[in-house]
Amino acid sequence: MDHPLFSTIPYLNTCEPNWSNLSSQPIKIASIEVLRIKRRRIGLPFIFPRNNEELYLIRTRSTDGAMGISVAHERIKHFYPILQQLVIPYFIGKDIRNIVSLIDEVYVFRSNYKLSGLALWCCVAWVEISLLDLLGKVFNKSVGELFGKVVQDQIPIYLSSLRRDTTPEEEVDWVGQRLAETGATAVKFKIGGRMSHDADAMPKRTEQLVALARNTLGDSVSIGVDGNGSYSAQKAVEIGKMLEDYGISFFEEPCPFDEFDLTEKVAHSLALPIAGGEQETSLARFKQMIHRQIVDILQPDLIYNGGFIRTFRVVQVAAQAKMPVTLHNARLGIDPIYMLHFASCLPRNHQEYNARMEKIPSWFTPSLIPKNGLLRVPRGPGLGIEIDPGILRKARKLAIQAI
Ligand SMILES: [Mg+2]
Repeated sequence: MDHPLFSTIPYLNTCEPNWSNLSSQPIKIASIEVLRIKRRRIGLPFIFPRNNEELYLIRTRSTDGAMGISVAHERIKHFYPILQQLVIPYFIGKDIRNIVSLIDEVYVFRSNYKLSGLALWCCVAWVEISLLDLLGKVFNKSVGELFGKVVQDQIPIYLSSLRRDTTPEEEVDWVGQRLAETGATAVKFKIGGRMSHDADAMPKRTEQLVALARNTLGDSVSIGVDGNGSYSAQKAVEIGKMLEDYGISFFEEPCPFDEFDLTEKVAHSLALPIAGGEQETSLARFKQMIHRQIVDILQPDLIYNGGFIRTFRVVQVAAQAKMPVTLHNARLGIDPIYMLHFASCLPRNHQEYNARMEKIPSWFTPSLIPKNGLLRVPRGPGLGIEIDPGILRKARKLAIQAI
């Protein structure tokens, strides 16, 4: 598919690396801890827009003293018993060089497959990424380099506005400013009402927003839209034809995400590329989406889908079918760092970047401020980040939760 933001990806030889080649000695997992810090204790504002009063870190240590850290997003508050009781115990004592098979085996540990879905796979992803950070530090490789060849160190981004509470005028004004500040030339707006059975967020917002955005931002800005499952197939096709008239570059989640038949009908009725996949956690269902061409652009979420290893597998299947892949990555905080390492192994596709990002004070380095629409992949081993030591000192280790 020829698309201004997303190209097809060549088949990779890097998704199932064998790290036993790098070390003849096992690297055993000694501990996996969950740390919590109240945001107000370290002077951070609440970030978007609720459930965000704390910061959660996953700290892993090997028996010979190496350490890795990942940062979990706010849903960990709901998933914590799964993480502590069903995921962490599996990994303790295992050899991290075997992480590819560990990720597969944790799925059957204590019948975890019965919980298959975002709540399980987020927990696995946070542990996996902390272990990849540790492994990268041991082998002096970035997380991208652990998976093979890093082919780019600057990643093009598109701005993602997550708002539906703005008028079209407020939205286009704000996004226009952010495009100028970041140098980005592509943006995604929210349309419809979010899982809303054809209702708009406010009367005629979608039609007015799309028209105003195109007329104000001009033809040089690539505009995508996200319906978040707002529409029936019939309404999505009607909206899609309007979007085609304005030269919109993609239409994300027109119908509820698990309504494959409806989404397929929309995709096959419109020339406009349909995007989706952010909620998906099953390789088997990803294969359906790809082989039935239910979408034209695949958007796995690195965390929801269980981490780097499982998401590279999705990329492999899409690559064979010549379907473009771009990560779903709308979160603030440290998550874009994960996206950058993943994207560093892939061709130059645009990746999602929350348009609010620059307004958030950073508690880690490097900063995530785009220049000329590009974000630099962190240098240094593992994730390549430095977390303010004051934050780690103030963190409280969480105990295993009683039921
Ligand atoms: Mg979306």
